[in-house]
Amino acid sequence: MKRQYHRAPPTLCALALTAFLAHAADPAPPKGTPAPAAPEANAAPIAAPIAAAAPAQLYVCTYGRSKFPENFAFQDGRKDASVDLAWSFYVARSGSEVTLIDTGFSAPVIAKQWYVTHTRTPTELLADLKITPDQVTRILITHIHFDHISDLPLYPRAQIIISRRSRDDYLSGKPLGGVMFDPLITAILKDPARTHVVDTRETLPGGLDFEVIGGHTAGSAVVHLQHAGVHHVLAGDECYLCANATQQRPIGRTFNPPLNLALLHRLADPAIVVLPCHDLTLLTRYPAVTPNIARIFGE
Ligand SMILES: [Zn+2]
Repeated sequence: MKRQYHRAPPTLCALALTAFLAHAADPAPPKGTPAPAAPEANAAPIAAPIAAAAPAQLYVCTYGRSKFPENFAFQDGRKDASVDLAWSFYVARSGSEVTLIDTGFSAPVIAKQWYVTHTRTPTELLADLKITPDQVTRILITHIHFDHISDLPLYPRAQIIISRRSRDDYLSGKPLGGVMFDPLITAILKDPARTHVVDTRETLPGGLDFEVIGGHTAGSAVVHLQHAGVHHVLAGDECYLCANATQQRPIGRTFNPPLNLALLHRLADPAIVVLPCHDLTLLTRYPAVTPNIARIFGE
């Protein structure tokens, strides 16, 4: 079912203001948010069940669309221009094991706030791939912005992989741009049986190589994945668009611009497949499974 949350496109000004409030003005956590507990070291091993085999299929799943100020997508972009954005996450499948790279969000109130038109919710997209939430055994979170972590509580069996800095920032409860606090997520991130933290870089079972970058947010990460001799980089929001890498144009919203730029330099190799979370062109560049899902690799 197609759901529309707004009919008239927002003015760029309104959109920019909303985006600015969320990304730069550090909105306070909602009233009633419990006082943050001191982050604890996570010595928990990666618990079973976890995909031990390399992913055989990788999909990009796009649950919404919107416009975004060009100077947010690109540091050198124009204030008075906009770009079309996808709102996407990734699904890596190894037989019956399913790993998500980020979760997306499904709350209509968030879609309204961000002028996102939901095409399908994330769990509807998974259903299109014949995946139930119970089958998701692992979720890699690239960073803690709402569009990458909000649906985490929908997956009761999944183990969470996240950078230590992202986990600690979320548990601190400190107002951070683009972060929406949810006590259910806090409980998951505090549970060492559910959440495994990565300090700098770690290769996970199945060959997913989780690397903390810290350019877009303090704890933001990317995921490297080799398949058939091709190096794929699931870029989180270190690249909003493929063009950030191909044109070597940094994103416009960074915690640490030099760290973002250093990653872009590493992604300049045209042999590397860069897979951002907001690039609509992926849906036409790769074979379509449905109008909102494309197969990056696999049968
Ligand atoms: Zn994002």
